[in-house]
Amino acid sequence: MNLKEAKEITGGLSSPSKMPGYAYNLPAWECVTGVKLQAVEGSVCAGCYAMKGRYRFPNVKEALSRRLRGLTHPQWIEAMTLLISHYSRKIPWFRWHDSGDLQSVQHLKNIFEVCNATQQVQHWMPTREAKLLTLIQPEVVPKNLIIRMSSHMIDQGPVKFWPHTSTVVKAGNTCPARDQGNECGSCRQCWSHDVPNVAYPLH
Ligand code: SF4
Repeated sequence: MNLKEAKEITGGLSSPSKMPGYAYNLPAWECVTGVKLQAVEGSVCAGCYAMKGRYRFPNVKEALSRRLRGLTHPQWIEAMTLLISHYSRKIPWFRWHDSGDLQSVQHLKNIFEVCNATQQVQHWMPTREAKLLTLIQPEVVPKNLIIRMSSHMIDQGPVKFWPHTSTVVKAGNTCPARDQGNECGSCRQCWSHDVPNVAYPLH
């Protein structure tokens, strides 16, 4: 498989300006839990950035939908492994789902396979799919992947059932991005095993 074929199968990677390296996204309108939360006032999904702005452009919508369709391709794991290995050579920090979320247990297991095949890269994946996480043990998560279970409501504390979490707060944020040009810079808290919770400021 070459890079062109890998991009065709998966829909390719994304490159958010905030992040130190590459990422991958899915359509926010296909988030299983997020779509329900978008209708709940006071939830972190109520003003979802991935439902607005450039995400509404037809070409961006089509690219996101193509990535969703690619999830069930029999060579998705191989293709994602090739892309991440190639594009994360210089900056080995990868973010899953800068928009979108897990679709199924099989999707999660496929991501585990990709992480296991790219040990040289540190992976971070936020999710709101609590039900899926209750179906697995934290011990089976690859060591180079941090899954952060995101609390659903603004100013809600971290969940108790998962070791790594994230929250959105009106005050007392621990994510410094807003104060450094909306970029991670040298911060790597989201990928750190030693940081149980990251609190993001409310936009
Ligand atoms: S906590 Fe650090 S690594 Fe996480 S998003 Fe904020 S700046 Fe980036």
